[in-house]
Amino acid sequence: MFYGFGYPMYYFDWTYVLVIIGAVLSIGASAHINSVFSRYSNVRCVKGITGAQTADILLRRASIFGISINRVGGSLTDNYNPRQQSVNLSEPIYGRASVAAVSVAAHECGHAMQHSENYFPLAIRSALVPAANIGSRIGIPIILIGMLFSSGAFGDRLVTLGIWCFGLSVLFQLVTLPVEFDASRRALKAIKENDLLAEEEYYGAKKVLTAAALTYVASAAASILSLLRLVILFGGGRNRRD
Ligand SMILES: [Zn+2]
Repeated sequence: MFYGFGYPMYYFDWTYVLVIIGAVLSIGASAHINSVFSRYSNVRCVKGITGAQTADILLRRASIFGISINRVGGSLTDNYNPRQQSVNLSEPIYGRASVAAVSVAAHECGHAMQHSENYFPLAIRSALVPAANIGSRIGIPIILIGMLFSSGAFGDRLVTLGIWCFGLSVLFQLVTLPVEFDASRRALKAIKENDLLAEEEYYGAKKVLTAAALTYVASAAASILSLLRLVILFGGGRNRRD
């Protein structure tokens, strides 16, 4: 692998193992949500309530008004948009009456509830979005540019700056975790309080939301491992072997 002028072109980079572990975790979590989701998408819920109806009921019961409930393309693309004040539900969620549809729609309403209550971790997360977007895009390029400077403090500073930029995107993923866990906790509570699912279906909802939360845990772990790799490779300044 080529890291800069002071390095040989190829050598065994053991730190790549960290990236592979991260990738395996992410692939595993995504396979798990896909299997749990498809299982509970095909279970029609006893009360026959669709995702869109779930969102409508839960938002009204929580006295949250003025939020539009939209249908969006794709699968697992469901989200709450705080700026547009909309709950966006994918095709398998919006119009279907399944355990998965009720669970996911309730989760997005959980985010709307967080927003209406000014839930603090959500506010931090929203504030971090622009910095994290920029950081994740320019972190690695800055490190690579820093590596091109074969000597001097300037290159080292660029490398350090790049690691910090990448760190911002990791921080964002970490702040995302309590926000997601809390939205699912609110979702399950609301499903129970409003009696949207039958008892055994409620356990299915728990499984769907836990599997969804695991994808966030896996991607946070993967990004921590990538950051760790960057720190191991470049964090202590560059040891030259000229
Ligand atoms: Zn969420």
